[in-house]
Amino acid sequence: MTPDPIQPDAADSPAAGKARLTLAPELLDAIRRVACTEHLLVAMDFDGVMSPLVDHADEARALPRSAAAFAALTALPRTSTALISGRALDSLRAVASPPAETLLVGSHGAEAWLGPNSAQLTLDPEQRDLLADVRRIMKEIVDVAPGTLLEDKPAGVVLHTRLASDDVAEDAVAAARAALQDREGVFLKNGKRVLESSVVHASKGEGVQFLRQSSGATAVVFAGDDVTDEDALGRLVAGDLGLKVGFDFTQAEFRVESPVDVGEFLEALLRERTRCLALDVKQDSPENAIADGPESAG
Ligand SMILES: [Mg+2]
Repeated sequence: MTPDPIQPDAADSPAAGKARLTLAPELLDAIRRVACTEHLLVAMDFDGVMSPLVDHADEARALPRSAAAFAALTALPRTSTALISGRALDSLRAVASPPAETLLVGSHGAEAWLGPNSAQLTLDPEQRDLLADVRRIMKEIVDVAPGTLLEDKPAGVVLHTRLASDDVAEDAVAAARAALQDREGVFLKNGKRVLESSVVHASKGEGVQFLRQSSGATAVVFAGDDVTDEDALGRLVAGDLGLKVGFDFTQAEFRVESPVDVGEFLEALLRERTRCLALDVKQDSPENAIADGPESAG
């Protein structure tokens, strides 16, 4: 019995009647390349990538197509999935409901969950005092800036300005920056209508490096939409695939418009990864080994 000839994927054909193909041909080529790596890590930012951006952070949910393709990728052999978020881990779990095997990096890299034995983030007494101080300063600013609000994280405090008028938002961020930017041990990050403060130095770049090593990935896919995601995109190497969601500046090689396109991207990645894994199984099968002749010893 000979192996079946490789059939072109019906979903690729315009006659397939499937959803409209919006991904650029170069991006589809890159997906095909990265999908055939030995061990693939699919690491996604959550807000603005898996989920559309929403006014109330606790209402964010992954789009169904993205969630389904991400879960299916998680179940494949030699394939790891991860979420790399600015959210605290608890908040990320609550909105993302990730598959049990999905690796999690939260608080922009300050927190990580790699399984039941993962170490929890702990602050030393100095960091705890500093965090309390940062919180007091931020609280004073928020109290006089209508529409702004604070979010507590294990290692930081976030100033949210999405619901404030532009003037109020700008003034609040400027006041927080002025009070905190020269404080030793305090690290600030700008995001979309947020100012993040942390008493732990971390970045999504360190997060993606850490995940690459701990998963043993031979290639990484990363998608992000915000300024802080550029740290992760900047750590990608030849053979990886970086995807920017939205129109802001980026060093990513590829770009899509919105989280809706991310669903299509993940479905294409799932399709190609499944195909590559199936081809590998065929190549490794005993009947194939006989057809190729026995391996020479030595
Ligand atoms: Mg985001």
